[in-house]
Amino acid sequence: MSTQTSNDRPNAAPPLIFELGQEGRANRYVEEGRPLDQFLPTSLLRDELPLPDNSELEVVRHFTKLSQRTFGIDLGFYPLGSCTMKYNPRVNDAMASKREFAQLHPYTPDEHAQGALQVMYELERSLSSLFGMAAFSLNPSAGAHAELAALLIAKKYFKDRGESHRDKVIVPDTAHGTNPASAAMCGFKVISLPSDERGRVSVEEIKKVVGPDTAVCMMTNPNTLGLFEDHIHEIAAAVHEVGGLMYYDGANANAIMGNVRPGDMGFDLMHLNLHKTFTIPHGGGGAGHGPVGVAAHLVDYLPTPYVRATPAKADATASNGRPLAPSDAMTYELDFDRPKSIGPMRSFWSNFAHAVRALAYIYANGADGLKKVSQLAVLNANYVRVKVADFLETPYPEICRHEFVASAQDLKKATGVKALDIAKALLDHGMMAPTMYFPLIVPECLMIEPTETESKETLDHFVEVLREIVETARKEPETIMAAPVKTVVGRVDETRAARQPDLKWEPASA
Ligand SMILES: *Cc1c(COP(=O)(O)O)cnc(C)c1O
Repeated sequence: MSTQTSNDRPNAAPPLIFELGQEGRANRYVEEGRPLDQFLPTSLLRDELPLPDNSELEVVRHFTKLSQRTFGIDLGFYPLGSCTMKYNPRVNDAMASKREFAQLHPYTPDEHAQGALQVMYELERSLSSLFGMAAFSLNPSAGAHAELAALLIAKKYFKDRGESHRDKVIVPDTAHGTNPASAAMCGFKVISLPSDERGRVSVEEIKKVVGPDTAVCMMTNPNTLGLFEDHIHEIAAAVHEVGGLMYYDGANANAIMGNVRPGDMGFDLMHLNLHKTFTIPHGGGGAGHGPVGVAAHLVDYLPTPYVRATPAKADATASNGRPLAPSDAMTYELDFDRPKSIGPMRSFWSNFAHAVRALAYIYANGADGLKKVSQLAVLNANYVRVKVADFLETPYPEICRHEFVASAQDLKKATGVKALDIAKALLDHGMMAPTMYFPLIVPECLMIEPTETESKETLDHFVEVLREIVETARKEPETIMAAPVKTVVGRVDETRAARQPDLKWEPASA
């Protein structure tokens, strides 16, 4: 990416590894006379690669420093609204790294992969019961990927019913951009639904747009303003009355998990972002996991494979000859023979390591624990909301769910300091910025999601830092507009970074 780096920054970027080193410094710890191909397969060695001569210590220091120049939840507070950047318990990784899971080849025959299939089955059953769906497919790899899967399911379902004329997808104006994008990718026409003054979808508005051409209404509940759609039953009834389907964008499931279920609200299809709600490291475009769930009438359309469990034969013994343990009492298999299925959404079965992480999180918390997770997420968001309302506008001043929106519009009018400047200034305090300029209906929007895993001290500190930034903006706006000054790079020329990305390193002498 193109960046404006400045060398007098306290944290200026280190030289590249190719620029370090001195001839003859490498291999200090490699035994004299022991050729390198004893350590690396010859197929990986290339003579023409001009690798720098660095000592092991230099290499370790270099990469350790680099690892400290990024930002993540392990380094500081990360209130990125709608992204649920909560703590990722290390026990999840310990489970996912177990040799039996990590080294399992995806083509291992089902009978030799019973433990892995059991993980997938139990995750699928847990999610179905937690969210009130008949079944989930674990196949899709992210939220947007699952949205696409769900809309392909809807399309096939309507085709089978002879209702291919249904070509409209209704999307509220608070929706995440992936919703209309997924609908458009499936060839649907997108109808944008305005929110009412309470920041919600109104029953009158929905009744105005539904009709015989309605395919799906996509909703996020709570929506991205952090507000629960309190007329959800009437909205679902209005869509169902004309024969349409209700889709639940589960990115905000951290607000409701264990307390209310989309299935009970009247949704026919949904997705979950396991990487958000169920503690899987994410951000930076890393691998996600987005199961797609459906009500009973759509189960046959789910992506393949589907993990099936059947009671094991009564006389069966475990493969090592011991009697069956209770967990062995089932036989698990990947079911590909599903004629109505939309087929697989990706290669292989799922981001399996993430399925292990999510199930570890579910079992570590239990049903009561998960319910408490969302209650604490809601409590933390409201705690921060009330305090922030002291010095920034909060356009929807009522009890929110797991996140809320603030606006810097008044501040901008008075001082010129924008939401973007506040976000940049937070970086200098070792915190990530909130989500900005989304949802689009709130001008100068800052969308704040503290999550349940932060302490009261961290929340208080965040509020005080934010207050200080706003106060500074009122006195000396140019200070805030110049932020960040302590980070590795300053403000990025975002247009140039997008249009003329500089992605290749070349030696200075070349
Ligand atoms: C994150 C998010 C998505 C998209 O999910 P990905 O896993 O990033 O593809 C969709 N809707 C909402 C509301 C989100 O916050």
